[in-house]
Amino acid sequence: EKVYLNGSIVPHQDAKISVFDRGFIFGDGIYEVMVQINGSFFYKEAHLNRLKDGLQKVNIKFDVDILPKEISKLLEASELTNKDCMLYIQITRGVAPRQHSYPADILPTVMMYAIPKVLPDINEIDAKVITRDDFRWSRCDIKMTSLLGNVMLNEEAMQYDCYETIMHRNGLYTEASHSNVFFVKDNVVYTHPADEYILNGITRIIVLDLCKSLNIEINESPISIDDLTTIDEAFLTGTITQIASIKQIDEHILYTGNKKGPITRKLQEALLKLK
Ligand code: PLP
Repeated sequence: EKVYLNGSIVPHQDAKISVFDRGFIFGDGIYEVMVQINGSFFYKEAHLNRLKDGLQKVNIKFDVDILPKEISKLLEASELTNKDCMLYIQITRGVAPRQHSYPADILPTVMMYAIPKVLPDINEIDAKVITRDDFRWSRCDIKMTSLLGNVMLNEEAMQYDCYETIMHRNGLYTEASHSNVFFVKDNVVYTHPADEYILNGITRIIVLDLCKSLNIEINESPISIDDLTTIDEAFLTGTITQIASIKQIDEHILYTGNKKGPITRKLQEALLKLK
């Protein structure tokens, strides 16, 4: 496995980063994940633009526009050109003696790797999820590498043999530990607005666009935990998750077997057609 580190492509064993890297010390970095399907990265511009935005929000200075060329070199070295794969990009503020404030004039640490990845068949997923209080900070719009909150919440789902943990803040569903959440109620698709309490998923944006082209009404406002029993359908979205139908939320059963709802099914079919 090859790793891109600050302009060089090396075997992963030789990719070494200082213990004083602020990504290691503070989780002071931004990351991105995208997948190549049928020879091209799915919504590459949108992913790179979100990376650019994230870096700007935390004032890490790095020119994202150099990446497409570097990504091509990495894929070639990894023998993944045109192959189905997942690309991970991480940019941390860089190496400096430990101090909280941003050090002046340090170079960011840029790391990327690509591994073969065939996306799961979404038709086979009927997910059970648990719900937990969203105890993360209030800048979830930043795709930062400090993911301990998400990791802790996801681990609980694994303990309960569930697919994901959906979170709620002040009684309103926000998102899940590594995906966005949508609900369908009376033929209207609801999802939390793209404010500072959720990551604005690229798949979330694609699904909202698909709703528009399929004439499905959307309402970007949060669903309350008190309305759970009035929900007709629910699903998760994410780059790897794609659109995963939810069959059970805590004790509440939405459907049994593989009888997922018609709107979830319609959106899954439409998403697959884009690839
Ligand atoms: N929400 C969180 C917290 C995530 O970590 C992710 C993806 O990693 C998403 C939502 C979905 O984002 P995307 O569709 O861009 O993969």
